[in-house]
Amino acid sequence: MVHAIKEKENSTVQVALRIKPLTADDLVNLPSRFQRNVLSTTEFASNQVIVHGEKKQTWTFDKVFGPESSQKDIYEQTVKNMVDKFLEGFNVTILAYGQTSSGKTYTMGTLNEYSQLPETKGIIPRSMATLFSYVNSTQFKSRKFVIKVSFVEIYNEDLIDLLAEGDYESRPPVTIREDSKGNMIWSGLQEIKVNSIEEVMRHLMRGSMNRQVGATEMNSQSSRSHAIFSVALSQQKFVTDFRTKKNEEEGDWITVTSKFHFVDLAGSERVSRYVHYFSSYLA
Ligand code: ADP
Ligand code: MG
Repeated sequence: MVHAIKEKENSTVQVALRIKPLTADDLVNLPSRFQRNVLSTTEFASNQVIVHGEKKQTWTFDKVFGPESSQKDIYEQTVKNMVDKFLEGFNVTILAYGQTSSGKTYTMGTLNEYSQLPETKGIIPRSMATLFSYVNSTQFKSRKFVIKVSFVEIYNEDLIDLLAEGDYESRPPVTIREDSKGNMIWSGLQEIKVNSIEEVMRHLMRGSMNRQVGATEMNSQSSRSHAIFSVALSQQKFVTDFRTKKNEEEGDWITVTSKFHFVDLAGSERVSRYVHYFSSYLA
């Protein structure tokens, strides 16, 4: 499982690799010839992975996490400082990429049986907790924050608003079109204002449940659908330009907006034909 992470100001994309441990389910469900670790980390370099195939090969990423790595490790070493960047006004996107069952949804932390527990919750709940701890801190007392979330699924050729009310069939469709300047425009997607981590989690859970409606077999559906959870942040800051103003009471309110996208991609075994949707949405 691989995600692209945006970390340093001067580098646009970073890639971290996480090796999934064999789970109890894998031991039951996987044919025994697949029940072995083909990937391992090396004690000599923390950003290399060894592939034990016919011959041994080594690959290098920005970071490599072994099967023993915790959700907390992943968050603290790849994502946490991007929440700081987000607050500074940068747009951030995290993509979880990998085959079906490689741990994308688990790592992202959308709905699964672990997503609420302190030890096993994933990237989204942890990022949102960090964000709200900033928003509520005295450090930013003078700023006014508006946070909105949206959650969209791309399934076959359909765009589905996972936060829309009503049953699956009666929801207004989300559409995507190109204007005369070549900009892609999305419409029909709700952005819901949130005031606390609890509210975010409620929407995340509700949306994740909607993601599973209409599929006879959950796994086959989620392996073919992409889900994008987005957070839009608008901050009003009071700033004083000391070149023109004399004291701190004189100043102007400025608005800084930024977006954070968490993308749980379809299984990489079928990903390529949907790439054009993302490039427009995440632009
Ligand atoms: P994907 O979304 O890539 O198809 P999932 O996140 O659903 O894969 O993971 C498949 C299964 O493996 C799930 O039951 C999940 O809880 C479990 N799993 C994934 N990663 C880990 C991990 N690092 N530790 C323990 N269990 C994991
Ligand atoms: Mg999944």
